[in-house]
Amino acid sequence: MSISGNIKKIKAEIPTGVTLIAISKTKPENDILEAYDLGHRIFGENKVQEMTEKWENLPKDIKWHMVGHVQRNKVKYMAEFVDLIHAVDSLKLLKEIEKQAKKYDRTIPCLLQIKIAEEDTKYGIDVDKAESILKSDAYSQMTHVKIVGLMGMATFTEKEEKIRKEFNFLKTTFENLKSRYNSFSTLSMGMSGDYKIAIECGSTMIRVGSSIFGERNYN
Ligand SMILES: *Cc1c(COP(=O)(O)O)cnc(C)c1O
Repeated sequence: MSISGNIKKIKAEIPTGVTLIAISKTKPENDILEAYDLGHRIFGENKVQEMTEKWENLPKDIKWHMVGHVQRNKVKYMAEFVDLIHAVDSLKLLKEIEKQAKKYDRTIPCLLQIKIAEEDTKYGIDVDKAESILKSDAYSQMTHVKIVGLMGMATFTEKEEKIRKEFNFLKTTFENLKSRYNSFSTLSMGMSGDYKIAIECGSTMIRVGSSIFGERNYN
């Protein structure tokens, strides 16, 4: 099916209250424009340089989400425009985002990435560390970043029960923190292979790449 056909199909499937982020990493600008022409405006990338180039070249009403792991020295390139940073995993990174956002007089919304999968390859922090960041004096003094929720990636497996268990754990953690931090609104979980399960488990934001744009070719 075409990119616009795929987007239409997914949008028809997902309930209101769930935001679709079209993950366009490795894909050409023309593919993004095909989705844009259909009215889609929110795209996600996992590399700062690639996202910045696309931001420069494409219509300025696109909202750009950084979904990948962020190196501190790259924050300055996206601070002017990034709409949401999904994978914050340290106070040090948050401090750098604060510093760079201030230069543009912006407040950048961020999510803390919680490690819910068993694989060691996945980034993210545990719940205690997330709490310690939220409770820290350093964070309480920041005025240019706002932690608005959590992000997580489930284990890459066919075992639906395992995925469901990991998403349920993240949802419970999210609700717990949301009851104490009123900035919390967003739970980013679910990708092409598991977004339907994620929605059943309470996701408010899904990050879908290959089911929209087709398989990625990294050569
Ligand atoms: C690539 C990526 C996605 C999208 O993956 P698909 O399986 O292609 O939908 C979602 N989230 C993150 C963090 C990614 O890096």
